[in-house]
Amino acid sequence: MKENKLLLQPGPTPVDSRILEVLARPVVSHLSPEMEEAMRGAVENMKKIVMTRDGLPFILAGAGTLAMEMALLNVTAESDRLLILSHGFFGQRMAELAEAFDLKYRLLQSPWGKVVMAGELKNELKRHKYDVVVCTHVDTSTGGCAPVQLYSEVIKQEVPEALLIVDGVCATGGIEEDLDGWGIDVILTAAQKCFGAPPGLAIDIFSKRAIEKRKKLPRVKAYYADILRWLPVMENPKKYFSTPAINEIRAFYEATRLVLEEGLENRFERHERYASAIRSGLISLGFSIYTDETCLAPTLSVVKYPEGIDDQAFRQKLDEQGVVVAGGLGPTAGQIFRLGHMGNLTREDIIFAFDAIEKTLLTLGGEVSLGDGVETVRSLLIR
Ligand code: PMP
Repeated sequence: MKENKLLLQPGPTPVDSRILEVLARPVVSHLSPEMEEAMRGAVENMKKIVMTRDGLPFILAGAGTLAMEMALLNVTAESDRLLILSHGFFGQRMAELAEAFDLKYRLLQSPWGKVVMAGELKNELKRHKYDVVVCTHVDTSTGGCAPVQLYSEVIKQEVPEALLIVDGVCATGGIEEDLDGWGIDVILTAAQKCFGAPPGLAIDIFSKRAIEKRKKLPRVKAYYADILRWLPVMENPKKYFSTPAINEIRAFYEATRLVLEEGLENRFERHERYASAIRSGLISLGFSIYTDETCLAPTLSVVKYPEGIDDQAFRQKLDEQGVVVAGGLGPTAGQIFRLGHMGNLTREDIIFAFDAIEKTLLTLGGEVSLGDGVETVRSLLIR
């Protein structure tokens, strides 16, 4: 069984050799200078990536779902009313978390493939009082990208005291998120998508206002995920609360260095360019895009098959060609496949993937002439 397949599912994404090399280093003490440098570096770099001066990143062992939990629990008082804006599976997961922690919430759900419009948010905020608004930047189930900056403007107009939590698991580091400039209170994310590090870290960046709110809460329904236990460690990594994921954090620091070496603007532009090249290439092969064209995410595409191509058979044959994509979640299961194009993916990876997709279509009786999709995508990938 070949292990080094090209991971084009929407996370985990391909891991650059520089990151892999750091992961393979000997384990150092969590209180060593090496670890202090990595934690301080990762914290400082995360501040740059989400453009905050006074906000503080919290980086702990866990996955995106822990990051969701940490965000919700640390800024919601028992009496608070929560508005959850959802455009898919992960927005609905937020509502499940709110249920699990007995939080009072209302779910505003868009049709799948679309997103909640800023105007709908405005109407909802005029009708009811909320203390915290939660949204997903890109819902990985639908490929829909929400207008986070507009949401934030609407909240500032209607309920300036309400806090905004943004799930950036499928966006942070690949799409612009300006914590201070847009007035976001918490961005939650994870290592395995736009950062191209292996899964294993939950990352939340709290604004100064969000940290102050946590300090005012008498208690939260968390112990490990209580940010006040981690705050001293994030400010001074020589302090101990719970053993950090040493190699993973060192590798994540390397991943953030790659992001900043590329430059944020370049990286965001590259994500846009890859996304549109990939979609044009797929359309030229007879596929179509599931997501509404008004809210397409730069980080992944959700793709409908040409007539007569079976989902299971397509993904299986593509896997045999060395390319892994994901199937549909919830109501889209069996109807679509999801192709990630975020993180440290290269042009060569994309060309390799298109060659494999063409061959797969041919094997399954699709009408393609080999090389057409590759040529379309190759010409569009070049700046
Ligand atoms: N939010 C979004 C938008 C996601 O895409 C995911 C994972 N695909 C999660 C949250 C949950 O992350 P994890 O699987 O790392 O728990």
